[in-house]
Amino acid sequence: MKFSQYHISDRIKKNLHELGFLKPTDIQYKSIPSIMKGEDVLAIAQTGTGKTAAFAIPIIDKLYTKRRHRDNKSVRCLVMVPTRELAVQISEVFSKIAKSLPLNILTTFGGADQTIQIEALKKGVDILISTPGRMFDLRAQGYLDMSETEVLILDEADHMLALGFIKDIEDVIKHLPRKHQTLFFSATIDEKIKDLAYSIVKNPIRIQLSPKDPVSKNVDHQVAYIEMDDKRFFLERMIREKIESKILVFVRTKVRAERVAKAMERVDIKTLTMHGDKHQEDRLEVMELFRKGDIKVLIATDISARGIDIPGIHYVINYDLPDVPENYVHRVGRTGRGAERGHALTFCAPEEKPVLEMIQGFLGKEIKQMEIDKSDYRMTLALTEEVNTNWQKLLDEAAEMKQKKRKKKR
Ligand code: ADP
Ligand code: MG
Repeated sequence: MKFSQYHISDRIKKNLHELGFLKPTDIQYKSIPSIMKGEDVLAIAQTGTGKTAAFAIPIIDKLYTKRRHRDNKSVRCLVMVPTRELAVQISEVFSKIAKSLPLNILTTFGGADQTIQIEALKKGVDILISTPGRMFDLRAQGYLDMSETEVLILDEADHMLALGFIKDIEDVIKHLPRKHQTLFFSATIDEKIKDLAYSIVKNPIRIQLSPKDPVSKNVDHQVAYIEMDDKRFFLERMIREKIESKILVFVRTKVRAERVAKAMERVDIKTLTMHGDKHQEDRLEVMELFRKGDIKVLIATDISARGIDIPGIHYVINYDLPDVPENYVHRVGRTGRGAERGHALTFCAPEEKPVLEMIQGFLGKEIKQMEIDKSDYRMTLALTEEVNTNWQKLLDEAAEMKQKKRKKKR
């Protein structure tokens, strides 16, 4: 089935066509009809399978077909997401699919200037995409009218319903009209959260794709055993070997992110860092630089593990293992998006093995091991000294290689 055969507005079809979306992905195929019927949906599908458009397409169609009443200043659809970056990204998807339609889309998150947002809310917003904290603030200050909200969407639902956010969300739900549609979308969900989700929605339609393996089949993921102190040399080697590739490196803490970036700087490898201590403008700028590929290596904490859709990330490296097992799935899911293939490699130190076992328990299978034989391991450590002294030569070689490749492409 193609989008052209769907009972959705022609203008939406045209926008999808421009985006290169011709056929729905599995999750889109399965969830769009239920959402169009107005049913509550709990949808679980692996990372990179197109969940955003799965809720954006039918909701945009619904809001467009049934226009806003002029006097109605209530937000019609609330989309809650865990991070600012995700709010921005999802707004972009909504804006593209709703291009040239008379729908007002607003994005808010903590740290952003409130005055413009309040002005927009006064005029009437069809779709509000926000982090829960800011949504809660706006509501508490009386700027957010939810008296006629038709749809509530939670993306990364399991995360939103766990720790921290649940109180804000319950508060928001209290203020929604009794009759509204609720959509939960997530790549991972555990039993406890599932129960919580069911307690919030009425008889939801549950759609779950490939529950057996939460890691997308597009991602080839392996683990290599590396001593904690040697990790930086292996990272250095990986980056130099894949000089043309976009690499996303995950570390456990903000401090680690900066430290690894410093270590790479010492061997003249340019990287970007991303973590919760960065200012909002810096965060958005970093994502933009990485998206464009101006700088090819991003060292991030788990705040970038969820939902972020940057096409062309060739490699994900777990420099440290994630504290929470499901974050493994979210991290490696940043590569192999849509129809792309991706690779992920986890650096596991001996002291991290118990965490690795927990992750494997969560996955329900072992992660393939990448064998590094002793001489290769030693060579990596030796190579780095050489690189330290001969880095200029190596960079020249890399530049030369790049040029050769470019010539070949022509
Ligand atoms: P998820 O939320 O499931 O992790 P996203 O919604 O971020 O996935 O989408 C992943 C990628 O797939 C995006 O780059 C998006 O543009 C692309 N995509 C989504 N739907 C389609 C489609 N029907 N056809 C082609 N590409 C699509
Ligand atoms: Mg998503």
